[in-house]
Amino acid sequence: MRILLVEDDESLASGLRLALGRARYTVEHVRDGVAAAAALADNAFDLAILDLGLPRLDGLDVLARLRAGGGVVPVLVLSARDAVRDRIQALDLGADDYLTKPFDVDELLARLRVLERRRSGLPVNQLRRGALQLDLAAMSVRWQSREVEVQHREFMLLRRLLEHPNKVFSRQELEESMYGWGDGLASNAIDVYVHHLRRKISPDVIQTVRGLGYRIGTGDA
Ligand code: CA
Repeated sequence: MRILLVEDDESLASGLRLALGRARYTVEHVRDGVAAAAALADNAFDLAILDLGLPRLDGLDVLARLRAGGGVVPVLVLSARDAVRDRIQALDLGADDYLTKPFDVDELLARLRVLERRRSGLPVNQLRRGALQLDLAAMSVRWQSREVEVQHREFMLLRRLLEHPNKVFSRQELEESMYGWGDGLASNAIDVYVHHLRRKISPDVIQTVRGLGYRIGTGDA
C-alpha cells in the first residue's frame, strides 16, 4: 500500500513515517505543495495524507488540482486549521477525511483503514479467499485458521493480489505497488517473495500465469 505523505514539519513527518512504516505502508514523503502536486499527478499512490499549510503551494490548491485532473486517490487532510469552514472547504474540494493537529496516531491509522476499505469496497478490515484470510488491522495472515508468520513485503504482496482476485499482476506492477522511490530492489525480488509465500502457506496460494505474471490462488485448502 503506497502512501504519499505531504508534510513540511520535519519532526512530525519523521514520526509519521515511522508509524506508517510500522503499519506496513510504503511511504513517500514530500515537503511542499509543488512537489506534492507533481507526485500525485503520477497517480501511483493508494492513499495521501495532506497538510494544508505548505511552502510553495497551499494544500487546498494541491487538492483542487488533483481532483480537477481526475485524480481519485483518497486524501486525508491533516491540518492545524481547525475552523469548521476550513474543514468544509477541504471536504468540498475533494478531501475524503479531515483530522486536526494535534492528533492521535492510532486514530489516524484507523481512519486510513477506513479509506482503504472504502476504496476496495470492504466493510471490515479483512480480506478472505477460501482458506486464506488477511487481517489488515492486525497485519496477520491465517491459512485454514492457522496463523502464518510472514515478512512485511510478503504481507504487502499477498494483500495486493487479494485486493484484486481476478487480476493478473505483472512483476513490474507488483514492484511498483510495494516499493518506494529509491528503494533498492533485486530484479528477482517478487519471485523470491512468491516462493516464500508458497512454502509458508500453500503451493497454490499464488498462481503463475505464464508470460503475464501472478494472481492469487483460489484459496482452496
Ligand atoms: Ca505545515
